[in-house]
Amino acid sequence: MFEEMLPGIFRIPVPLPGNPLKEINSYVLTSSDRNLIIDTGMNRPACIKVYEQAMKDLAIDLERTDFIATHLHADHQGLIPLFMKEGSRAYMGEADAAPMMEGTTAHARKMPMGNYAAMNGFPDDELKDAQENHPGFKYGPQAPIHYLFLKEGDVFNIGDYSLEAIATPGHTHGHMCLYDRKKKLFFSGDHVLGDITPNINAWSDDEDPLEEYITSLNRVAGLDIDLCLPGHRTVIKDIKKRIGELIEHHRVRANEVIDILTGQSITGYEVASRMTWDIVAKSWADFPVMQKWFATGEALAHLRYLVEKNLIQKEMKNNILFYSADGKNRL
Ligand SMILES: [Zn+2]
Repeated sequence: MFEEMLPGIFRIPVPLPGNPLKEINSYVLTSSDRNLIIDTGMNRPACIKVYEQAMKDLAIDLERTDFIATHLHADHQGLIPLFMKEGSRAYMGEADAAPMMEGTTAHARKMPMGNYAAMNGFPDDELKDAQENHPGFKYGPQAPIHYLFLKEGDVFNIGDYSLEAIATPGHTHGHMCLYDRKKKLFFSGDHVLGDITPNINAWSDDEDPLEEYITSLNRVAGLDIDLCLPGHRTVIKDIKKRIGELIEHHRVRANEVIDILTGQSITGYEVASRMTWDIVAKSWADFPVMQKWFATGEALAHLRYLVEKNLIQKEMKNNILFYSADGKNRL
């Protein structure tokens, strides 16, 4: 199954069963010379089946096909080792690609996140469960991928299209988008999505991903774009408007966090449990553990952002981080 979005650009909707994202958009650009695939699907049977069929239907010669993963999440790069051939090249931003290369283990990637979650009050039993069921580890690539590092300004010419790599850190630190300046066409990965809000997670005190994300959004708002092809759901016609909505969403969320913290000192996990979430569940206790994980990561991104802006305070007691606010200043 595929849909021709523009001449020579095909979208394969790859199903993500049981995942609120529903499906991922894999884009295939074809030409008489080489083909380029932007994002793939997870390494799981439902994705593989649809992907194999689409490659057949589109008559793609994989020996002449290169892959770009906009970022390291399993739904974007999980299938690359299964479909890349000897003649294929695979590209991803360096910050995302480096941990996926040969010599690093899933354990090495999991540990710092787990430690930071524990430090922020994520309970031990739930932490174990979340790490076992994390889609990034469960459905990620089956083998290390020899990535070439995608860099800001790299250009890929495929048929009539000329795609330039634009660094857009935030959703992940190495996230990259692709932009055809002449055709005003933009592949946004998970940087800008239409009817869902890209998840922004912080899993370390050394980063401020929400600040990075908002900076990247403002940067993309300055580009001349007529059509945006995102990593999930439908095309975006007015990307400037959507970017404005996303920035406003995070401002409102940050103020919600300040309100929650006003007059009390609590952990990041507790902040997440008190924020409002767009999930069908009676209470926080009924959230599936992975939703608790992503909600906590999102709460931590807002907490990091507000600490850096001096709008809230953070202190460590017995190896656990507590956050508080006087509520005098908001965003
Ligand atoms: Zn993602």
